[in-house]
Amino acid sequence: MENNINWNFDNSYSRLSNAFKEHIKPVAVKSPELVIINESLAKELDLNLTKINKDKLSSLFTGNTLPEGSNTIAQAYAGHQFGHFTMLGDGRAILIGEHITSSNKRYDIQLKGSGKTSFSRNGDGRAALGPMLREYIVSEAMHNLNIPSTRSLAVAKTGEKIMRDTLLEGAILTRVALSHIRVGTFQYIAARDKKDELEMLLNYVINRHYPKLVNSKNKAMDLLIDLMNKQIDLVVNWMRVGFIHGVMNTDNMSISGETIDYGPCAFMDTYDPKTVFSSIDHMGRYAYCNQPIITKWNLSRFAECLIPMIDKNQKKAIEMATEIINTFEKKYEEKWLEMMRKKLGLIGNHSIDKTLILDLLTWMHQNKADYTNTFCHIMDPLSNNGTIYEDMDFVDWKKRLNIRQLKDNNSYKNSIELMKTYNPLVIPRNHKVEEVLEFADRKDFKPLIRFLNILKKPYIKQEDTSDFQSLSGSNENYKTFCGT
Ligand code: AMP
Ligand code: MG
Repeated sequence: MENNINWNFDNSYSRLSNAFKEHIKPVAVKSPELVIINESLAKELDLNLTKINKDKLSSLFTGNTLPEGSNTIAQAYAGHQFGHFTMLGDGRAILIGEHITSSNKRYDIQLKGSGKTSFSRNGDGRAALGPMLREYIVSEAMHNLNIPSTRSLAVAKTGEKIMRDTLLEGAILTRVALSHIRVGTFQYIAARDKKDELEMLLNYVINRHYPKLVNSKNKAMDLLIDLMNKQIDLVVNWMRVGFIHGVMNTDNMSISGETIDYGPCAFMDTYDPKTVFSSIDHMGRYAYCNQPIITKWNLSRFAECLIPMIDKNQKKAIEMATEIINTFEKKYEEKWLEMMRKKLGLIGNHSIDKTLILDLLTWMHQNKADYTNTFCHIMDPLSNNGTIYEDMDFVDWKKRLNIRQLKDNNSYKNSIELMKTYNPLVIPRNHKVEEVLEFADRKDFKPLIRFLNILKKPYIKQEDTSDFQSLSGSNENYKTFCGT
């Protein structure tokens, strides 16, 4: 096939019961034009982009032509949006297939912004160029920060204008994910109250994402435990780099444990646990400091779906699930402390650690210190300096840190090596993201490409990154928007 770039599809999800999806094709677009393609990801997926010319690639990455072996569907799901239960589904995305790599890894390939489906409600099924490039930048940055995330393979313009606050250029993102099964997928199926469908979904998820549980005596319970562990690891990673997802609705929580749905997300600059960027999150439900507790809340909604499969006796099933959910805080705290110790280059486990960590965070908050740069300063005071770090409270705290770092026969050299793997030097700072998007809007993609290259190696010192590490005033007025 002339439109094949070595796609190797096997569409197991689309073989599930019709309750799970709608069979539908992407809506053709007027004038496809590839804007960016992720060559290193294409390589990881064993794709060969040289097989077809740019026009054909553009057509492929907007869904105007469908590759051989694809079986296009919109997936059904539900979700608690800001705490309220709603029936949702892919309203502007189409899964074109599951691509299998030569090492037998399976990835969902989805076109986001591909037109209306039966789940579109009042939406137009489309996406704008800016937000799709934004998802590309931030999801790739997350991946390079060693945080599980969906990936971005391509962004292509549609040649059509879409209506938001103003007319914007339409675009489609090709998203790559371990799968797009969400907590909300379970909620959708559970709401239908058909146990055979729920069991089908449970078994599917275990086969695909948790194969170690295939012979488990209580698959539902063990899945709850494993997902909880994965989600704790994920949110601890978000806290580590100051990432604020922005819209942690249950439909945006992946069963595979990847960060998914980059809408109003952003990275915190000055440290303030209450930081919220999303323009619609008036109550601060998804603020930085609330992310762990929302993870627990979402896992509780997941547990509710599993109740009929945990035990025939509902009361007993609820007790069993509650017992698991109630271990969340302790597990989270342990993993968070473990992570913060590494950010500070501490080995071993000492009772003074928590106070030492909290004292730093309190100082950062009171002094409006930059979260990322403060850890960079601690690692390397010479190259990341600022008068703020001359503050006596900080100097005194640093002395306490240095004493603690040497415990357990540790050396400063060893501490610094450890810190280097946990503290990024560069993150996609909001003002930089906006800046490159503005250039892209004026058809200048060079700053975007340069930014993406810098973000590929966030833990390694690169030349001339000062511009990417500096703050741009305060975040107080920075707003992000979702569904755009
Ligand atoms: P999100 O806030 O991006 O997680 O999306 C929540 C729900 O709204 C999902 O079901 C999306 O598919 C749907 N949605 C978001 N934007 C649009 C749009 N422009 N057209 C149709 N559906 C949309
Ligand atoms: Mg979503």
